Amino acid sequence: MPNPEETTEALRVLGQRLTRQLETSMHACTHCGLCNDACHYYVSIREPELVPTYKADRLRNVWKRNHDWLGQIWPWYVGARQLDDEVIRQLWDTAWGSCTMCGRCVFNCPMGVDTRLIISTARAMLNAIGLVPEGLQQTVDVHLKTKNNMGVDDADFRDTIQWLDEQLCDELEVGGPVIPLDKQGVRVMYLVNPREVKFHPLTLMAAAKIMFVAGESWTMSTDYWDVTNYAFFSCDDVAARQIGLWTLEAAAKLGVQEVWMSECGHGYNALRWEAENWLGQPFPFRVRGFVEPMAEYIRDGRILLDPTRNPLPVTYHDPCNQGRKGGILKEPRYILSKAAIDFREMLPNRQNSYCCGGGGGMLSMTEFAQRRIAASKIKAEQVKATEAKIIITSCHNCLDQLTEVSRRYGLGTPVKNLCELVADAIIWPPEP
Ligand code: SF4
Ligand code: SF4
Repeated sequence: MPNPEETTEALRVLGQRLTRQLETSMHACTHCGLCNDACHYYVSIREPELVPTYKADRLRNVWKRNHDWLGQIWPWYVGARQLDDEVIRQLWDTAWGSCTMCGRCVFNCPMGVDTRLIISTARAMLNAIGLVPEGLQQTVDVHLKTKNNMGVDDADFRDTIQWLDEQLCDELEVGGPVIPLDKQGVRVMYLVNPREVKFHPLTLMAAAKIMFVAGESWTMSTDYWDVTNYAFFSCDDVAARQIGLWTLEAAAKLGVQEVWMSECGHGYNALRWEAENWLGQPFPFRVRGFVEPMAEYIRDGRILLDPTRNPLPVTYHDPCNQGRKGGILKEPRYILSKAAIDFREMLPNRQNSYCCGGGGGMLSMTEFAQRRIAASKIKAEQVKATEAKIIITSCHNCLDQLTEVSRRYGLGTPVKNLCELVADAIIWPPEP
């Protein structure tokens, strides 16, 4: 547990992050409880410690003791607390283990309290004193060391891309390359999740097939190709900035106009909304998630789909970072309406969708795995109610979590990314 210097450091980080937005969220909570049923942890597990206000209060009470005049004069009256060992232990459990920073409670709070921001502040304080779950920290460390979060070296990356390229050339009956590397003067640089290179090549192949058929001008950079940024979850702004900088440098070297991200919720949030703040400068290119151009390709007739090739009923899980927090809500539904014949909405959906349970870096924190699965009960019930045979999502984290949820809750429903569904429906070669 922290020594006095570490406590001082954690409080310094709290002071440093005390923006007007955070101050407002600390002040404004009326403890009305309207956000209780917004949280998948509380709805699924029903323990009072899991309601958003209770979780936020663990840091709010420390803030009162250090930054609120009433808390400094009469701490006992307002429940203000010193940042002692017990509070640090509680913050560890709350900030890392019982909040995915999904933002659903924020969306449901009439006072505009941003519990997600409070939790991310607690994470940053813990990070500053070295209290980060080992799996999450390792993911960030590997990323900083190797420029991707799974430690794929350059030779392995090139070999894998070449192999995938050959597979695609055979499938499409065309000459290569279908996946261009380091091509100067193209319009788009495409980033992928390292798990596509290592374990899940179908996603990358599907996206490459779609871009090839659409005649897109695109490439991948061998200098930098990782869409993820787990430092966003560990709330390490220095590491997050470095990861954003690598994207900026690779895109600038290729001279592209746009950077597109494979379907990755937190990667989208980090690069689209946060990275320019970390870097202190605007990007000289446009940042987009792959769902957006996919929808445009369909709308503009650049790819033609046959939805009967996806005959089974499908449902769609909105990734929190891309949907509620990123605003990409219409595009997936438009794509689903064109790529499958039987699309069934989960209820609730769009901005009000429940987190899959794997957000916030939770999949890398093995110490909280049991609670992560227990908190997904509501998601399993939502899926089951649709009677869909396939779950579609648009995020690798969600895909892994939903695959585990499907198995643990006996749903037997496979999970696919949206681009895989689209690739399966593509009419190629074009019919005369
Ligand atoms: S965070 Fe908002 S909804 Fe939740 S208890 Fe506080 S004021 Fe009510
Ligand atoms: S951000 Fe999401 S997980 Fe965290 S308290 Fe709010 S609803 Fe629950």
